[in-house]
Amino acid sequence: MRTLLPLQDLDLKIEACRLREVEIPKQKGKFDVQKQRLAAELAERESALKNLQLEQRECESEVSQKQAQIVKYEQQLLGVKKNEEYQALLHEIDLLKKHIAQKEERIIAILVEIDAAKERLSEDKKRIEAELKVINGQCTEIDLELEEAVAVRKSLESQRKDLVEKVDPSLLSRYTRIRANKKTGPALVPLNGNTCTGCHMAITAQTVNEVLAGRIHTCAHCGRLLYHAENLVEEGARLASQ
Ligand SMILES: [Zn+2]
Repeated sequence: MRTLLPLQDLDLKIEACRLREVEIPKQKGKFDVQKQRLAAELAERESALKNLQLEQRECESEVSQKQAQIVKYEQQLLGVKKNEEYQALLHEIDLLKKHIAQKEERIIAILVEIDAAKERLSEDKKRIEAELKVINGQCTEIDLELEEAVAVRKSLESQRKDLVEKVDPSLLSRYTRIRANKKTGPALVPLNGNTCTGCHMAITAQTVNEVLAGRIHTCAHCGRLLYHAENLVEEGARLASQ
């Protein structure tokens, strides 16, 4: 029992490290969400700017098409004989000129909007880059924390072999089996009076006496190995006097 306790202490520490190794990377989850939000924000700004630039090009091409049409009509005017046809062409030209004026007005408005959109985009880029820098720094810290946890666990694991060799093989196999069943927590627990400290249930007086006498028992309720702290003191004194 005396040799099993240090092994269990080590195993519980290793277990705690493994838990941390699972928990630490979870912290990065919220940063991934933040990164996605920032990327979406930037994409929205960029697409707003692109849409304006597209509209500007469309307006400009409409203007030049209509100007070409006017040139065509003006050439037709020279050859027209009938007054109605002449008037009709003049009317068409007039309409085209009105449309061109509307589009040109829109282009001026778009240019103002593009300037504003560019400014907003460059401000957002700066802000988002700064936010990403902070987030990436925090992610790096998390990675380092994880690396450290792994290093601590490996160093603990390297101490395990020496401790295992000191434990009686049959006791070790019972301990290993209980640990495997329980998945977490101690497999070896002290008695507190007649109570198992693993499950807090009462142990029969006979079992308590036998544990006190140095026999190895498991708790009838939770199956953990039981020991009595006094026995360890005696065992220690006996080993020291040898
Ligand atoms: Zn128990």
